[in-house]
Parts: sequence; structure tokens; C-alpha cells
Amino acid sequence: MTPVSLRRAAATFLDRATRIVGADRVFAAAEDRAAYSDAMAFDPGTHAPSGAVAAETVEEIQALLRIANECGAALWPISRGKNFGYGGTAPVLAGAVILDLSRMRRIIEIDEKRGYCAVEPGVGFFDLYDRLQAMGSKLWLSVPGNAWGSVAGNALERGAGPQPYGDHGAQICGIEAVLPDGSLVRTGAGAMAGSKTWHVARNAYGPGWDQMFCQSNFGIVTKLGLWLMPAPEATMTIHLSLPEPEDLGRGVDMLYPLRQRGLIDHDAAWVSYVGIASYVGPRSQWYQGDGLLPDEVGRTIRQELGIGWWNAELNFYGAEPVIAAKLAVVKAALQPHFRDPITHTVWRQGDPFALSKAGIPGTRDMAMIGWYGGRGGHIGFSPLLPADGAQANAQLARTRRRYAEAGIDYYGAFAVGGRTIVNINEILYDRDDPKMARNVPALMDALIADAAAEGYCEYRTHIDHMDRVAASFDFNDHAMRRLNGRLKDMLDPNGVLAPGKQGIWPRRFRDR
Ligand code: ADP
Repeated sequence: MTPVSLRRAAATFLDRATRIVGADRVFAAAEDRAAYSDAMAFDPGTHAPSGAVAAETVEEIQALLRIANECGAALWPISRGKNFGYGGTAPVLAGAVILDLSRMRRIIEIDEKRGYCAVEPGVGFFDLYDRLQAMGSKLWLSVPGNAWGSVAGNALERGAGPQPYGDHGAQICGIEAVLPDGSLVRTGAGAMAGSKTWHVARNAYGPGWDQMFCQSNFGIVTKLGLWLMPAPEATMTIHLSLPEPEDLGRGVDMLYPLRQRGLIDHDAAWVSYVGIASYVGPRSQWYQGDGLLPDEVGRTIRQELGIGWWNAELNFYGAEPVIAAKLAVVKAALQPHFRDPITHTVWRQGDPFALSKAGIPGTRDMAMIGWYGGRGGHIGFSPLLPADGAQANAQLARTRRRYAEAGIDYYGAFAVGGRTIVNINEILYDRDDPKMARNVPALMDALIADAAAEGYCEYRTHIDHMDRVAASFDFNDHAMRRLNGRLKDMLDPNGVLAPGKQGIWPRRFRDR
């Protein structure tokens, strides 16, 4: 299928879609196409969609899939489309039509006692937070750093937050999805009509399919169950900082055994100082020159902001005697690494909620795209490492070298789990800088290749790099790509749903 015939199919689809959803929910003008492109791309044309259609019901989604199958259009579903750093609203394949689910905003259920919610795809973190607050709920959210997006879209992409329930993909329990042929399924216990345990039982009968709809193109998720954390009686917080880049290794080794043993309640991230400075203001307030931030400027930034090269926050959640005991053990383990006595703060129910360490949605992290000035952007490079200080240090050295070659200030975070590290590196840039337009894609390619050579894979990637990352999963001559391809062809024989997502291509595009 050529780009021209895909666009022609899209035009037919958009025309017919007006009969299903009405003209006011079909967006095909030039400014609509621009609005649904990747707002942070150097060249938004690379992944420009043909237009967008907003669906409001499962029946509309089914009807739209039917006409997509008939006319050969490709649909790219989004929930709220705030997948910034990984492609935003844009599809992998230019010419696809965005299926915008952001108007499906029903919070279907909040079960206060069992601790879960069930939401439609368009429900944002702010929506759910507001509802929980209005109800006086005793359930707490986990939110990503920039919380503009949707609860469902973020969980489906395996987004993360710094709270105990911060592995959002792992909190999913029970999904409803429309398959590419329009059939409707429910996963887990929800496969039983009238099930009483859809969103509480993870391991029902037979294979578990919740994860089948995460980072895939096998279905359009229309309902999603997500576990929420019961509000703790108290929280306690300690802030840690380490002065030198090479301190990362001991920073990892001091945390992961405590996390593994359940003494730390969440994945705590070591965040490099440029990351923190980028939330505060643009680089120009510190340095106006070209090239990398000089070391002495870095020192000034750290001094003035009162931070280290690496910075982490550890939070404890629960009944006060329990977390006080955990905190004491953690402090004793960590204190030998620090000169100053480790202090902590306490929050108790009734204190100002903003200080609680609950997941409160915000958008502060988005300020980072202003680092270089101009029309800013960022892209994420997100490999997984084993929890091991020496490997973290080696990865840091490799990554910093590549950033330096590209002339871009290093910004990395290492979220330390009990067994893995999620290493999110943000590459910040100015979209109008031609040198960055050349260097950033080359930097991403080099980082992905370096990581793969070391046996580290990405957990998520930008739409520009989905094929390259998929190709790095090469065991037995890319057996996983073949398995995904076979499933894709079986479920989506006409290749209408999100072609190329996560490097999974339906047959009709495989030789493109
Ligand atoms: P958010 O607004 O929460 O950041 P997005 O809506 O941008 O999330 O979704 C991120 C990606 O996840 C999309 O590009 C798409 O590939 C996938 N996705 C989102 N919502 C759905 C859905 N309801 N069904 C299937 N895939 C989805």
C-alpha cells in the first residue's frame, strides 16, 4: 500500500465517518491535521495523520472499524493524546486517521472498599482526582510527572509514577476492548457476563489478556479497571542527594536491597541536576553560551538550587508506628553514605493535603521543554537495567558520552526498583535549532544501539524509533516479531489498527 492510496482510503473513511459521528466530530482541515501531529517533532510531517474522528461510544467505534475495514484506512486510537516525548497524538504511519477517544470521559465506577476504579479512555488524571476529592474518597492516585494525560492511555503504555502503585500497567485489572474486526471482549473475570470480580481478580480462568492490550495494536480499549491505593494514616519523607556523577552506582546499591525487602514503598528515582534545573527555568538564566553546560556553571546551579548531582526522594506510606520502624531501618542503612544526619518530615491525616505525598496531578515537569528556549521539545530514551550500581554507572558513562558528542546537556533519572532500574533519559531540545534537528535523532539511534549491544532493552519508545527498538528484540532471528506479526494478521487481517505501533506491522505494510 502506497502513502497516496492510504491517504485516499483515509479520505473515503473520513467522508463516511461523518455519517456515523456527524460532521462536527470529523476533523480533516489542515489545522486539524496539524493539531493531531506530534507537537514536539522537528518535522511533524513525518507522522502527519490524514485527520481525526472523535468517537463517543463503543457502537461508534465498532461502526468506524467496519468502514475502515471496508475502505482500507488505518486508525490510530488515542485516549487523551498527551503521550509527549513518545509521539503525542501522532501515529507511526503518516496518513493514518486518529481515533480520538478523549470524549469518552465516564468514570464508570469507584469502589471505595475494594480500592479500584473503572474508567473510559478519555478520563484524565485531573478528572479522576477531582472526583475522588469531591467524594471525600479514601483512595489515592498514582500520577506520572506530567499528568495531562489519561489514566487509561498512561497505564496501557506502562507509564510510571513515584508512588507505591507507580507501575501503572501493573495496576490494570480487567479491560474491555474492541478488536479490529469490531468484536467486543472483556478480559479476566469480566469474560463472564455479570461477573462480580472483573476489577478485583487478576488471575481468573485461562490465559490472562490484560497485557495483550498494553503497548500493542491488537484492540481499542474502551474500559479499564485500575487498582488505587488506600490512603495511609501518615507519610514520612527523606530527601537525599549525592555530589558526583559516579555516585550513582552507590546510590543504586544503597536503595535496591531496601526496596526488594519492602522497606521502601516505591521506586525512588535518582534525578540528575539538569533535570531539576529544567523544571525551574530556562538554561539561559545560568548560561548563554553554545555547547554543553560548562562544569563550573553546573556547580553554580547545584549550589544555588541547593541540590546534588543526583537527587532522590524516599516516601513511606502507612500507619505511623509501622513506617516509623521502616524509616529507622532505612536511615540506619543509608546514614554511612552521608555526612549530615538524614532527617525526615512527617505528614498525618488532617495536615494540608498538598504535603501528603499522594499522587496529585500537576504539569510542572513540562517546564523542562523550555530549557533551550525557542519552541521546545523532548524525547525519551528509556532502557531497563538490572538493579546494580556498577551497571548503572557504566550505562551513565556511555549515555553521557553520547549526549556530549551530540552537544546536549545530560538529563537522566534512574528509578530504582527491587530488581530493575527504569532509566528515563530526557533529551531536551529547541525545535528551531537545525543542529539539534540533526543531532537528536542520531543521538537516539546511538543510544538504542549502545544499549542493545549491552543486552539492555527499552521499555517504551517514541514513534520514530519503534521499528529500531523492536528490531533489537532479536532472539532466535526475531521470533517475537514473527509471533506478534502472526497475531496481528489473525486479529487484523486488513491491517486497519495502529500499523507499526511497537514495530508490529500488519501484512499489507510489512514490505513497505
Ligand atoms: P495519554 O493522553 O494518557 O498520555 P495517549 O492517549 O497519548 O495517552 O495514549 C498513548 C498511546 O497509547 C497512544 O498513542 C496509543 O498507541 C495507545 N492508546 C491510548 N489509548 C488507547 C486505547 N484506548 N486503546 C488502545 N490503545 C490506546
